[in-house]
Amino acid sequence: MQPKMKKCMKNSVTFTVLFAAVLFAACTTKQATGEAAVSPVDTILLNNFRPQVVNNIPQTRVERAKFPIIDMHSHDYAETAEQIEEWVRVMDAVGVQHTAVMHCAWIGRPFEEVIEAYAPYKKRFRFWCCFDYSDIDTPEGVARSLETLERYHALGAVGIGELGDKGEGDLYARPVEGVGIHIDDPRVKPLLEKCAELRMPVSIHIGEPIWMYLPMDETNDGLPNGVAWHVDTTNCMGYEGLVNTFENAVRDNPKTLFIACHYLNMNHDLPRLGAMLDKYPNMYVDIAARVAESAHTPRATREFLIKYQDRVLFGTDNGMDAEMYHNIFRVLETNDEHFYIPEYNYHWALSGFDLPDEVLKKIYHDNAERILNEYK
Ligand SMILES: [Zn+2]
Repeated sequence: MQPKMKKCMKNSVTFTVLFAAVLFAACTTKQATGEAAVSPVDTILLNNFRPQVVNNIPQTRVERAKFPIIDMHSHDYAETAEQIEEWVRVMDAVGVQHTAVMHCAWIGRPFEEVIEAYAPYKKRFRFWCCFDYSDIDTPEGVARSLETLERYHALGAVGIGELGDKGEGDLYARPVEGVGIHIDDPRVKPLLEKCAELRMPVSIHIGEPIWMYLPMDETNDGLPNGVAWHVDTTNCMGYEGLVNTFENAVRDNPKTLFIACHYLNMNHDLPRLGAMLDKYPNMYVDIAARVAESAHTPRATREFLIKYQDRVLFGTDNGMDAEMYHNIFRVLETNDEHFYIPEYNYHWALSGFDLPDEVLKKIYHDNAERILNEYK
């Protein structure tokens, strides 16, 4: 080994000298012509960064989930009967038993029309409705909101959602937004109590991933998507305030079941999220639309998902394409590492969680089934 190494080193030295000589010649030529040396790292924009993985490592396609799925976070994406039919075909192919169509957070038709549109496939979709804040400031208005909730429940609504507060109140609600109405607002309490009575879980989106609040500069680890979804908190509540409103509601309504969408946007601090789950048995999280925010820290996320395997729900929240499902399955099921999914809009590489079968089965299906059936 020794002589060979010496030879390599010698070659290496020779190469270095040669390279330096060429570089020196190039530099002197440029200096002579007045051109500045330009490096690609000074000119390639992060926005144009398109790295290609060169490692000889497993690249797995997962076209069908290992276990049947209940998707607990989706929306009224299909605009026509044909699109609903096509969505069901995709669900059959990828292994989704049924999908939650959340009426809130989607600009669309009234709740009754959503129910009607999906009626031919009513066993494949379950419907989640909004709170009606139209006249929430008066006792009569509150009574009407409660009646609306009961009517939606009778029509088939299994839960409330997706409520959404990014600082200005529940802006995902329909037919009117809940400007200034946070989840711990006393005006919402009668509705939350009614949800407990009707056994309807409340799914709520709180804040945004942490990179969207940080300075938009070279220190922001999630800069590309941070910029795209930047939250200006000048005139509205910031992330900590929003988490407090959520925690107040969960604590003060122990009979109501809350689902914090997108890991409560707390992927950056899973120990804190775990502590909340430990403290509040009426709290769950869904993993919808946070693949990139979790799969760049695969070991920490895997540990979290295993530890809280009874409190995590599968969700997509990202349209109806087969490839969208495949990407999520790859992250949850495989041990693939260092791969990119450009549409998530971060510059970092992802790795799979390689979740054990019993954990996958609970997250894909069993936890949701328990909530939707036994919770009733
Ligand atoms: Zn959503």
